[in-house]
Amino acid sequence: MSRTRISEILSKAQAGEDVLVKGWVRTRRGSKQVNFIALNDGSSVNNLQIVVDINNFDPELIKSITTGACIAVKGKLVASQGAGQAVEVQATEIELLGACDDTYPLQKKGHTMEFLRDVAHLRPRTNTFGAVFRIRHNMAFAIHKFFHERGFYYFHTPIITASDCEGAGQMFQVTTKNLYKIEKDENGAIKYDDDFFGKQTSLTVSGQLEGELGATALGAIYTFGPTFRAENSNTPRHLAEFWMIEPEVAFNDITDNMDLAEDFIKYCVKWALDNCADDLAFLNKMIDNELIDRLKFVTENKFIRLPYTEGIKILEKAIADGHKFEFPVFWGCDLASEHERFLVEQHFKCPVILTDYPKEIKAFYMKQNDDGKTVRAMDVLFPKIGEIIGGSEREESYDKLLKRIQELNIPMKDMWWYLDTRKFGTCPHSGFGLGFERLLLFVTGMQNIRDVIPFPRTPGRADF
Ligand code: ATP
Ligand code: MN
Repeated sequence: MSRTRISEILSKAQAGEDVLVKGWVRTRRGSKQVNFIALNDGSSVNNLQIVVDINNFDPELIKSITTGACIAVKGKLVASQGAGQAVEVQATEIELLGACDDTYPLQKKGHTMEFLRDVAHLRPRTNTFGAVFRIRHNMAFAIHKFFHERGFYYFHTPIITASDCEGAGQMFQVTTKNLYKIEKDENGAIKYDDDFFGKQTSLTVSGQLEGELGATALGAIYTFGPTFRAENSNTPRHLAEFWMIEPEVAFNDITDNMDLAEDFIKYCVKWALDNCADDLAFLNKMIDNELIDRLKFVTENKFIRLPYTEGIKILEKAIADGHKFEFPVFWGCDLASEHERFLVEQHFKCPVILTDYPKEIKAFYMKQNDDGKTVRAMDVLFPKIGEIIGGSEREESYDKLLKRIQELNIPMKDMWWYLDTRKFGTCPHSGFGLGFERLLLFVTGMQNIRDVIPFPRTPGRADF
């Protein structure tokens, strides 16, 4: 007899069928005659109720069925008498696969998120993290489906890179050098010619530059891979290792890019609503009562589109009207998350796409506007999160791009291959980066980005 997943039993099995189920015991309760086991196998947030007639089983076996233990149960599916489930299993055979003693840290419910981070190796067994990681899988699947259906190619960009010019964040160095014996040249600089790659290398902060090489050949590509930033920012929205999705499309201008970003997020959120209903209902009940309403709102309403300059005016007016921000607001400032959230949550009450930022606070590759001051950047700002997407139309003019590279003193030796895209058949193109865990924060209603990735890496923490 082969095992049936609990999600299948709960959604389509008929009373009367014989089933074999395997899973982990959440609770066992009951009387001297009959026990009820709540069994979970990870396929659903809902448990399967196993009814055990004590008289038919060895008392030692029953005693070993503790919270956390792993068991296999054969039995008959019957309509449930109790409230809370349509069917339950009347056990005929129980096998203990793995005992679990009372040092198991997840004995009772209601642990804090901080505590659960300390037992991140076990937290996928909780209802909350089971729900989050099932949604995480579903979102990854939806992302590939969205792009595949629209003719994009999944393009794998390198994780180890020798260019540090993207400027998106501090990088982690990759080396096989003996750190106890570092040789320096006469200027005190470390010599890398004898290092593994013969030059200084790091973990990537973005696949975009290589993504542009793909887009200007294949037309439309996306990346979806690990990304690393050694920024020492201990916020609920930053990880040192996160996953980023970066579509890049030849011939798209900034408006096409905004349309793509909006369609893309709406598709993913709708996918969650359509395919993760049980998990979302659980999170809506336990974590965030407005979650499902917020998800529906995003799928049903058009995002506001607004130039940065107009955004600054709104923030300045708010300050004049007495609103207090921690960080100052002026034309040219980089918006802090409090500013972004004010625009989204209090002013427009809707996701906002802010465009045309001052060139000084954006990357060198963004297309320069005719005003000489702004670039064709776009950030998508979301309730509870702030920036969820950052993107732009790219500068396609070789001369303008080279001038900007020189102004910013970016070493040319690192950039020749990137500039070749502008030298050989350049074209308008655009793209953006979505932080996968920022999307998950939004879709799950979780408060901290450490709680939407199985094993978070943050300053001072790389356990498990
Ligand atoms: P922020 O201003 O929030 O630090 P950023 O402007 O540095 O972000 P980009 O370089 O534009 O971010 O990266 C694109 C996207 O990647 C961001 O919109 C965000 O969703 C995500 N992202 C950036 N940094 C992180 C991080 N440290 N952890 C998780 N996601 C991140
Ligand atoms: Mn950004």
